[in-house]
Amino acid sequence: MRLYTLNMLSVRPIPLLADNYGWLLQDEAGFTGFVDPAEAEPAASAVAASGGRLDLILLTHHHADHVAGTDALRARFGAKVAGAVADTHRLPHLDHALAPGAQLAVGRHAAAVIDTPGHTRGHIAYFFADGPILLAGDTLFSLGCGRLIEGTPEEMFGSLRRLAALPGESLVCCGHEYTLANARFALSLRPNDTALKARAGQAAQRRAAAEPTVPTRLAEECRLNPFLLARDVAEFADLRAHKDRF
Ligand code: ZN
Ligand code: FE
Repeated sequence: MRLYTLNMLSVRPIPLLADNYGWLLQDEAGFTGFVDPAEAEPAASAVAASGGRLDLILLTHHHADHVAGTDALRARFGAKVAGAVADTHRLPHLDHALAPGAQLAVGRHAAAVIDTPGHTRGHIAYFFADGPILLAGDTLFSLGCGRLIEGTPEEMFGSLRRLAALPGESLVCCGHEYTLANARFALSLRPNDTALKARAGQAAQRRAAAEPTVPTRLAEECRLNPFLLARDVAEFADLRAHKDRF
């Protein structure tokens, strides 16, 4: 599986459940983090194969397909757990209850905590300037975005705008493998976009080889992702409603 090493902070997708990704983070000293452990066993295997150390679990939001493996991993490896302070009541026990704007130390590196309501009220994203790496959870997917389960179009549009303002070379590490379905929707809107067709073809090849289609680069998402191309809240809201029925 591809290993992305950037300024000595590496990040790697770990397939979990049917279409979730957890993300294994490791720094030059072996400090190891795991983002969104949907289930414990495959996450524990990935940790064991990477040195057997798990220091920190980073949670983006409270849904079971992002947190269900947390307590078992904590018990097995002694990892600390970080998540949004706003969702303390519905997340696993937090050692680091994070407010938007906080900095979370991950070994020798630091993640900025970005408020990204929309999919859920307390959703947060983590951004490492070292990398740069964006752990986007269920806010931003390749060619798509999360469903508005708790938030408003205004909130989600604002969240996507905050993420889109990050450096274009950022690796976008998202919570699900939804790229092929998202590509079909995006192509229905812009059937003649050659860059979009190329991305859809590349993603299809990767899936055929049982490889992840992510991470992608934020600059590519800003060019191709219909939800990042929406110019205002009304356009975004229409697009999201259209995708929900697609
Ligand atoms: Zn979710
Ligand atoms: Fe999810």
